[in-house]
Amino acid sequence: MFGLDEEILAEIKTHLEARLDELLTQGDGKVDPNRADASEVPDEDTQPYTEMNQVITSRQNRLNAEELDRVESALSRLANNRDEFGMCEECEEPIKTGRLKIMPWARFCVPCKEMNSDVKLGYRRRNTRDYID
Ligand SMILES: [Zn+2]
Repeated sequence: MFGLDEEILAEIKTHLEARLDELLTQGDGKVDPNRADASEVPDEDTQPYTEMNQVITSRQNRLNAEELDRVESALSRLANNRDEFGMCEECEEPIKTGRLKIMPWARFCVPCKEMNSDVKLGYRRRNTRDYID
């Protein structure tokens, strides 16, 4: 029977909720800080600068949104599938708790994660499962 200690699960949940809070607080508020002013006094000279800022900010927002997805999905797995939380989705071995404490949204153990990124990078590492980190 797989299952992490309640204590570790609680710690992971706290970590996830804190991260969720941070991400939600950062939110989209930075997209256009001049919006209020701009609507009162249209100033076309500032437009290119504002658009550049929007591109940068929306990229940041996209990264935040991806992390938000990971954090929310981890919280929902924690809520709905508690018994399997922290189990590698690839090899079904427990993910090290040290890794989970740092990255509670991790879905794969280190060897599987590395194997996946190796595949993406187009090369293979042999015996990945043989070494223990
Ligand atoms: Zn694995």
